[in-house]
This record gives sequence, C-alpha cells and structure tokens, in this order.
Amino acid sequence: MSRLPIVFHPVYSKVVLPDRHPFPMSKFGMLREELLAQGIAVADQFSEPEPADVELLSLAHDRDYLRRLIHGDLSAAEVRRQGFPWSPALVARSMAAVGGTCHTLELALSAGLAAHCAGGTHHAHRDFGSGYCVLNDLAVAAAWALASGRVGRVLIIDCDVHQGDGTARIFEREPRVFTLSFHAATNFPVRKAVSDRDVALARDTGDAGYLAALAEHIPEVMDRFRPDCVLYDAGADVHVADRLGHLALTDDGMRARDRYVIEQCLRRDVPVACVIGGGYDRDVPALVRRHVFVHEQASKCFDQWLN
Ligand SMILES: [Zn+2]
Repeated sequence: MSRLPIVFHPVYSKVVLPDRHPFPMSKFGMLREELLAQGIAVADQFSEPEPADVELLSLAHDRDYLRRLIHGDLSAAEVRRQGFPWSPALVARSMAAVGGTCHTLELALSAGLAAHCAGGTHHAHRDFGSGYCVLNDLAVAAAWALASGRVGRVLIIDCDVHQGDGTARIFEREPRVFTLSFHAATNFPVRKAVSDRDVALARDTGDAGYLAALAEHIPEVMDRFRPDCVLYDAGADVHVADRLGHLALTDDGMRARDRYVIEQCLRRDVPVACVIGGGYDRDVPALVRRHVFVHEQASKCFDQWLN
C-alpha cells in the first residue's frame, strides 16, 4: 500500500526573526515533527525539494524584482511591505518553499494527491512581496505545470482567510489558470484584486455557512473549467482562535473543509496538491495542530481513494 507523498525542507524554519515578530517561522519544522508524533506520517513519506532557481521563478515573477531580492537590494518600503527583514536565509527558505510547491504538484500529478509542509504565499505579486509573502509558490507551480506541457488548465482553490490577491493579479490575463478565492471580506488586503471568482464571506461566518459556500461554488467551477490539476491552499487562519482571521471555523469545520475540497478533486480524477497557507497564533503548538488537519485529511483521502 502506498502512502501520501509529503514535501518538506529543513530550511523552511531556518530564519531568525526579531523578537515579537508576528510570523511563526518555527511552525514548518514543528509541523513535520507533529505529523510524525501523531502517527499521521512516517519518515519515508517526506521528500525534500530542489529550491526554485531564477529560471523557474521568472515564470511568475519579474526578473528585476528577483535580482534585487536575491542580492538584498530591495528598498526600505519594499521590505516593509513584504513584512520580513531581508536576510540570505529568508531568500533561501523562500526559494526552497517555491520549489517545494512545484515538487508537491509534480508528485500529485503522478500519485493523484500530495501535501506540502509550507506554501500558500499568495500575497506575493509579480514584482513585489507583501503580507509575509516573498515569492508566490502557487503562481510559480501553476506556471511551471503549464510550461512543462503536463497540464492544460490549472485551478487554484484558495481557502486561506485572506484573499489570494497576488495570484489573482499574476494570472489576470491567463485563461488557463482559474483563481477561486474564499476569504473573509473584512480581512487583508483592504483593496482586493479580482480573482476569476471571489467568494467574500461575512465576519464570523462559521462552519455551516463556510461549507455551504464551498458546496455552492467548487463543484460548479470544477465541472465548468475542467482543470487538469488543482492547487489547494488550506490556510489555517480561518480558525476561530486565529489572531488575524475573521471566519470562526472550528477544528471539525476545518477538517470538513479539507476533506470536502480534496474529495471534490479525487472524485473527478483531478490530481490535487495541498499547501498549508497562513495561520497566526502566539501559541505555535496549537497553530501547528491546525496545520496538521489538511495532512490528516489528505492521508485519509489518499488511503480511501488512491489505494
Ligand atoms: Zn492568510
């Protein structure tokens, strides 16, 4: 019996941020440990990606932005907007995470389903970083899959609590990519981009309303667009205890969401690559347990549908 392929790189958490910086950089390494501790994964399910190089990144990013990012030539305003102080380690982890989502998608295309222990940096635009997103892994992976000739249409289902504005802008004139974003209307970014479909939800929507919105839009979009693969951003910041998110999902609501999205893909024989997206909590172990849900549900779906 085969098992869910999972992608992780040790550099994901190897960035030292200033004390009290709101981004929980340790969560990626802790997620791997938690998956092993809970028995959801075993060590040989994990594979390590090649970091994305400039050629790969330039499928979705401006070359001048990449040059300035890599060489530490960003302006003070650009650094503020991305939300992280620049460091070589930040660049290395960002390039590795993009490579990780590409590798996750590649594994999904052969196995049917795969999950990443990072990814979902959907606020990164073609030529600037924003909102703790330096490079847009979803956009690069989608563009890579198209450029490789392995797929003709990519659907990005973005269930992070924040709108996938960078991804929407990067693909605004790309008919082969459909961007579907479920997000809280009141959350960042204040000025939303235009996705192929935006489902803006009211503050405190909760489990029932959220799951109803998924059921209203996902089957219809999938049947109409007929994607060859799906990138699923399973942001944990939809949770009621999240410091930033406004949607108030419970643990069980998140599990139901993840299972629903994955099953909608598998029942149509559409390969799906899952990324963890955002999640903000000073209690990082509690946050990590929320990021586990998508791996837990993906593992169950893998065993049920693909074995
Ligand atoms: Zn988010």
